[in-house]
Amino acid sequence: MSVKEENLVITPKTEPRHVKLLVLGSGPAGLAAALYAARAELAPLLLTGTELGGQAALTFSIENYPGFPQGVGGADLGELFQKQAERFGAQVEFDTAYSVDLSTRPFKVVADSGELLSDALIVATGASPIHLNIPGETEQTGKGVSYCATCDGWFFKDKKVVVVGGGDSALEEGLFLTRYASSVTVFHRRDSLRAGAVLQKRALEHPKMKFVWNTVLTGIVGGEKTEAVRTRNLLTGEEGLFPTDGVFIFIGHTPNTQMFAGKLEMQDGYIKVDDHMNTSIPGVYAAGEAADSHFRQVVTSAGMGAAAAIEATHFLERETV
Ligand SMILES: Cc1cc2nc3c(=O)[nH]c(=O)nc-3n(C[C@H](O)[C@H](O)[C@H](O)COP(=O)(O)OP(=O)(O)OC[C@H]3O[C@@H](n4cnc5c(N)ncnc54)[C@H](O)[C@@H]3O)c2cc1C
Repeated sequence: MSVKEENLVITPKTEPRHVKLLVLGSGPAGLAAALYAARAELAPLLLTGTELGGQAALTFSIENYPGFPQGVGGADLGELFQKQAERFGAQVEFDTAYSVDLSTRPFKVVADSGELLSDALIVATGASPIHLNIPGETEQTGKGVSYCATCDGWFFKDKKVVVVGGGDSALEEGLFLTRYASSVTVFHRRDSLRAGAVLQKRALEHPKMKFVWNTVLTGIVGGEKTEAVRTRNLLTGEEGLFPTDGVFIFIGHTPNTQMFAGKLEMQDGYIKVDDHMNTSIPGVYAAGEAADSHFRQVVTSAGMGAAAAIEATHFLERETV
């Protein structure tokens, strides 16, 4: 509430809220951390960020998360995680953190709703696949456009798919897709691959894999399902329409960790953690894709979140603020 005094508008300074444990992120890592911390009676506060349920919520169906033999909707799984955490006392708030001060405890986090103090912090802000930012990409995500072959490859049995990229992940994921797809066509903007030699050899020799060089995608076409990609040859300028059932984009991932730059040790933008999810600052833990550039799965991220919460619980038992 604001108080008008002469010509000045004074906004009374509200005391920052102080919690034992703050979790940043509502993906599998953050929600699993909140569940474990809630069961340890830490009454954790979780800030969701703008993507409720995290990346998993972007996909129509998750078929490789244990316990769901028929698969589970990506968004449904996020809601189930949330309900389970809330049942034990986790507080989930639709709010985003935008700066942190980890130099003293309690840690200070500034979010849209104001300043928060926290005795321990779990960073589970995940990562975002780099997008092509072309027309149709957002609309077709989950309908044919994917950023995860392990997750979605199975849906493309005997179908034609396109892979975008020329690095290790593009070829690894492309080779993985040959298990299902009838053909995998790799579109690469250059005339040679960046991937390692062994991987290149395997991909180039694979009978199901084809390569289109010096070509970028300029659009993705489809309705309920993806139907084609628009292409442009960078050397000739020639435009084309290439029919496909799926488009797998592997041009890199960006961890959502910019706010921790210079505050926590990082490697290639990922927060460095040991095998107990400890970061370089005692009491600050990181879990899921904010700290993991390798596994990038719901189950592994949730596992890291649970581990971080267990460690945070032990830390808070040992330490008093
Ligand atoms: C299209 C797609 C399909 C997939 N399918 C599968 C699958 O079938 N099976 C599988 O195992 N994996 C799948 N994955 C991968 C899986 O979704 C991720 O590995 C997993 O979601 C990572 O979990 P996370 O909690 O680490 O991070 P994320 O899921 O990335 O969640 C990060 C969370 O942090 C929040 N956040 C970010 N910044 C802030 C901030 N400043 N303050 C507060 N909150 C913040 C975001 O809002 C979000 O809620 C898929 C990924 C994609 C993109």
